[in-house]
Amino acid sequence: MDVQEKIKKLRKEIELYSYYYYVEDSPKVEDYEYDALFRELQKLENEHPELITPDSPTQRVGGISEKFDAVAHKNRLYSLDNANNDEELIRWYERVLKDTTGLEGQLTLFSPKIPLACEYKIDGLAVSLTYVNGVFTQGLTRGDGIIGEDITNNLKTIKAIPLKLFEPLNVEVRGEVYMPVSSFEKLNAKQLETGQKTFANPRNAAAGSVRQLDPKITAGRDLSIFIYGGIFEKKDAPKTHSETMEKLSKLGFRTNKVTVVNGIDDAVKFCKSVDEIRHGLDWATDGVVIKVDELAKQEELGFTSRVPKWAIAFKFPPEEVWTELESIEFSVGRTGIVTPVANLKPVLLAGSTVGRASLYNFDEIKRLNVEAGDRALVKKAAEIIPKVIRTEKTGKSKPFKMPETCPCCSTPLVEIEGEVALYCPNKTGCSAQIKGRIEYFVSKNAMDIEGLGECIISQLVERKMVYSYADLYELTKEQLLELDLIAEKSAQNLLDAINASKNVKLPKFINALGIRLVGKESADILAQNFPDLNALKSASIEDLNAIDGIGEKMAKSIYDYFRNEENLKAIDKVLSLGLKPENTYRREEDLKLKGLSFVLTGTLEEFSRDKAQEILKSLGAKTPNSVSKNTDYVIAGANAGSKLTKAQNLGIKIINEEEFKKLISNKEEI
Ligand code: NAD
Repeated sequence: MDVQEKIKKLRKEIELYSYYYYVEDSPKVEDYEYDALFRELQKLENEHPELITPDSPTQRVGGISEKFDAVAHKNRLYSLDNANNDEELIRWYERVLKDTTGLEGQLTLFSPKIPLACEYKIDGLAVSLTYVNGVFTQGLTRGDGIIGEDITNNLKTIKAIPLKLFEPLNVEVRGEVYMPVSSFEKLNAKQLETGQKTFANPRNAAAGSVRQLDPKITAGRDLSIFIYGGIFEKKDAPKTHSETMEKLSKLGFRTNKVTVVNGIDDAVKFCKSVDEIRHGLDWATDGVVIKVDELAKQEELGFTSRVPKWAIAFKFPPEEVWTELESIEFSVGRTGIVTPVANLKPVLLAGSTVGRASLYNFDEIKRLNVEAGDRALVKKAAEIIPKVIRTEKTGKSKPFKMPETCPCCSTPLVEIEGEVALYCPNKTGCSAQIKGRIEYFVSKNAMDIEGLGECIISQLVERKMVYSYADLYELTKEQLLELDLIAEKSAQNLLDAINASKNVKLPKFINALGIRLVGKESADILAQNFPDLNALKSASIEDLNAIDGIGEKMAKSIYDYFRNEENLKAIDKVLSLGLKPENTYRREEDLKLKGLSFVLTGTLEEFSRDKAQEILKSLGAKTPNSVSKNTDYVIAGANAGSKLTKAQNLGIKIINEEEFKKLISNKEEI
């Protein structure tokens, strides 16, 4: 296909998707897919400027429907150019510098730092509101930027839009109508219940609600607005964008926070800070808008046919993407449980390329109806590996078949009673399980043996140098030197680290054993309730079950663990080789902080968060992650965040690192 045809095809596709997005409020593809087509068209047109036509989607904005009266805007509305990464922001700033100061070339430490106003980019519907003598007279959608749709009556139903200003000024303001995330979720649930169309995201819900022929429907939807700009008469006009925003706020408009920074480096930092907190906000924000603050400079920079040159939108990377699910693979973990994993066609998700996604268990496969060959929507989850959240069938989809044998050792798999899992019963011979158990044994929250990574463990198991964690304590330097990628010094370091781990704390050792269903928290509880390993070993199911935090299933699993020959042999072996688990938990009468709840926020100078929590727990305190009315103390370190504010609002006692140290050292009351 020649370039001209390619361009024609791209324009047709983009126009179709734009129609569904802007006019029908019902997008047919994800934003990032649309953006990719748009950028491809932009690139081709840049390479072949002779092929640019005024009606190309790169030369205009949005679209209008015939549902509403079409009204010409007094001042044209534009879209925003966008940057997907820091590099693109810097390139934009270099262009701004070139056009305002004449300085050409790459940004350096000595480049001028122009004041930039940074704001949340609200993901909603752009509108323009006209006020005459302080009275709201007309509200239009952005439309194609030149002509908008008259939705005045609908906009009047939004309570955050003032019908009368505090001063009788003539002003045209621009803002974004949006639907709070919580209301969007409620609306979709209601639409589903009543068999009506659901909305793809809060932006479409807002646009669909405002662009209704019946204002009563708009009034029934929870909508709000953030005003992000205004055009005043010359006599009233401020000098900067940030002053404009202040003035608008004083007139009665709902505006969002504007942060003015100097130069692009600080703007980049601002974007990162917003990325960290944006999920806690009740409005959808898909990025940050950065604007040259000085209005005279904005005028100097001007516009292209589609966007202002004085502003740019930094867009956060998408957190959900569609890709091809190429195959389903099974992996065996340390407990023998087989978990399905999806192999994906590699795709960029939230800033990194992903090729695998978790499918959790076989019930999840059934629930999602996952088959190899499907198209899959993948989301970045709290864990590192993303998860599949939805699938669509394609011509290539192949029926899913449950595995019958272990993918590692080919032993027939068995079902665990009462659980939705399949597992490999070959505990001592399945190398995947042995590797998994040793990896868990040496991990940070367990024995914390540095330098024993996946690669070395894999070699140790494959070469049959270790069969269980206990064998690690008998390894010799000669054996380690036989392994690939290990030299004299690292072999010695490794032996030292293994040796040092012999002085382990009891809760860490209990956790390291890898008892099914017992993790770090439960290991802590066990160490608090048994003075030593022997007492734990001889506990009955009833003893265990009587402990707060140890349920029936876990009690049975612990009991069974200590009745298994192999497990007891391994424990005896490490104890005879010098491993001494020490119980640092005090006896009941020493638990000075028993029953108190502490929340940590910010960074402490002398203690890592894990260490501080370990100390508090050893004194009987609880250390939940969030502040509630049940919190007794908040320990605030440097750069404490929202937890501190919440604690202040709830009137919870706040202590600093010095006070924390006093509390734990000489038992002084504070
Ligand atoms: P945009 O949404 O990327 O940015 C421009 C808009 O941002 C402005 O018009 C304004 O309404 C808004 N905005 C929010 N906060 C702002 C603030 N603080 N200051 C200034 N403006 C602010 O551009 P667009 O032209 O509205 O839409 C293009 C985007 O829409 C594309 O990047 C794409 O992601 C999406 N789109 C998707 C489809 C699809 O099919 N999925 C189709 C068309 C467009």
